[in-house]
Amino acid sequence: MSDRMGEFDLIARYFTRPAKRAVLGVGDDCALLQPAPGMQMAISSDMLVEGRHFFAGVTPFTLGHKALAVNLSDLAACGATPTAFTLALALPRVDEAWLQGFSSGLWALADAHGCELIGGDTTQGPLNICITVFGEVPRGQALLRSGAQADDDIYISGTPGDARLALDALRGTLALPTELLAQARARLEQPSPRVALGQALRGIATAAIDISDGLAGDLGHVLEASGVGARIDPEIATNLIAGCAHAAAAAGLFPYEKLLEYVFAGGDDYELAFTAPPAARQAVDAASRKSQTQVTRIGSIEKAPGLRLVDAQGRSVTQTFQSFDHFA
Ligand code: ADP
Ligand code: MG
Repeated sequence: MSDRMGEFDLIARYFTRPAKRAVLGVGDDCALLQPAPGMQMAISSDMLVEGRHFFAGVTPFTLGHKALAVNLSDLAACGATPTAFTLALALPRVDEAWLQGFSSGLWALADAHGCELIGGDTTQGPLNICITVFGEVPRGQALLRSGAQADDDIYISGTPGDARLALDALRGTLALPTELLAQARARLEQPSPRVALGQALRGIATAAIDISDGLAGDLGHVLEASGVGARIDPEIATNLIAGCAHAAAAAGLFPYEKLLEYVFAGGDDYELAFTAPPAARQAVDAASRKSQTQVTRIGSIEKAPGLRLVDAQGRSVTQTFQSFDHFA
């Protein structure tokens, strides 16, 4: 039966729903979107390639979730409200059980964010998923990488390091207790894009980025774009950010240096790093509460370029971190 399902049946069955917000959705040569008055459109694409971004055989439901989540995370970093997305899909074959699972994961997260599928492309080929998301942000209010100022505080959401911990465990380079593995794995396979936090930070944060390639490297992009440097207390890893990597280190599974690596260079953490002036600390707290998202102050912006790890006693930590680069 699966063999007989063609491209258009597949699209109609798994990827078509009536448009609600869009002027025109799936079915025509183009979709049509009308931004609300005074709003700018925020647009971002992310591609997921089998074997590169996810393991072959990963549960299709979680893959559908993650494919959209990594895109929504970029909208979150800009403080945008998601409205719509397109889906370009290369599939090796028509596997209805897979399509059912994948589309369910996709729809569940799309519905949670009021973000609708308005079009795409479907072709036969090695499994590859490319999503483009569209969002809206009031004119001139998008959060950018370039606004950090000397003396701003630096914050991070959630518990970076967890996704990489799960990846190491799944690759077999590290053994984790069952419960901790399940927790870390959920963070790797079903990240929660920090959309509510990003929106709540409009008008408060001076710069923001999502740290999908690792905290040190991605914060480095903010520093470069803003023409500033930063000082961070490395003990945030051991004291403040009590995630799965922290729990694994506390259980003696690896030494302190390795924990720093997880937190600062883990990658695949769809968390936000952002800056705000010290006068905005209460406003940041309020944004964190409003969005029900944990936020931790980890350091401050300085004039001198570069990222320095200095502990509370003024001791420098000289550890370099490799952020993720597909071609490095
Ligand atoms: P075209 O030939 O103009 O590229 P297609 O025949 O590929 O259009 O697609 C038909 C319609 O189905 C279009 O509206 C397109 O946006 C939509 N579509 C194709 N693939 C997908 C998909 N994976 N998810 C959602 N919509 C899709
Ligand atoms: Mg087409």
